[in-house]
Amino acid sequence: MTIGFRIGAATDVGVQREINQDSYSVSGSVAVVADGMGGHRGGEVASSLAAQEMVSRFAEPDLALLVEAVEHSNRRILDAAAANPMLHGMGTTVVALGLINVPDGVSLGAINVGDSRMYRLTGVVLEQLTEDHSLVEALVREGRLTPEQAEVHPQRNIVTRALGVVEHVEVDSFHFIPKVGDRYLLCSDGLFNEVNAQEIATILATYADPQETADALVVAANAGGGRDNITTVVVDIVDEAESQMPAAPAALASSANIDGPASPSAPDPSDDAVAFDTPHSASEPTTDDQQSGESPAGEKQRWSWRR
Ligand code: MN
Repeated sequence: MTIGFRIGAATDVGVQREINQDSYSVSGSVAVVADGMGGHRGGEVASSLAAQEMVSRFAEPDLALLVEAVEHSNRRILDAAAANPMLHGMGTTVVALGLINVPDGVSLGAINVGDSRMYRLTGVVLEQLTEDHSLVEALVREGRLTPEQAEVHPQRNIVTRALGVVEHVEVDSFHFIPKVGDRYLLCSDGLFNEVNAQEIATILATYADPQETADALVVAANAGGGRDNITTVVVDIVDEAESQMPAAPAALASSANIDGPASPSAPDPSDDAVAFDTPHSASEPTTDDQQSGESPAGEKQRWSWRR
């Protein structure tokens, strides 16, 4: 069996913003979402630099290379900002998923900096795999905010880590075991601030085609208010041999026991067919290689963005 990606991707300015500062980039072996910040054209420049660098630097399937690509992107953003006053203060989040080689075969490597997110739908269970590097997430961890309060907190757009801020960016990195049929979602906060986890899970489980799924998530975010730019990248783990065949049927939809896309009826919220795990669930067997921890200086970098 040869593990591969089938990818769908969408980005949209949303309902209220004038420009789209999100970027994504994908190849056969890596997918990246970046959410830029900074006035003038800074945010767009930073996020597209990061998205493109991440893909072009990921020449070999290796987790260390994915982390290196983040560091290189950070350097390029800092240099570009130093060279052009119009770009001063620009920065970006970055989240990426790539196929990597490990001694016993192929695995998945992932990185995260900032408050974009990665989720995984396994069968009918949606898990948030990344932790937000944001002020409200830190306050939730300290017990000073509930997750519900964090969702509507006026300062929920303050990030504590991003590219383009300091010389040495702290990168969260992960290993995941690839399982055919698993579906990963990379997204900017313009999605999950407008669409709750239950609805994200439902959409992910409803559409078989990754491009249709990415598009449907954007539609849902705009319907929810569209107050920010929205970017969604859906990565299906496939057996390359099978993926050469015509498009597979809606296997996910049937396994999740949710009505297909033609049905207008939403699933009953009390139905626990689609469960949602927080990133802090006790059992996270596949996140076996998170390299980062809280650095002593980590919480000092707080700044506002995307206003
Ligand atoms: Mn955003």
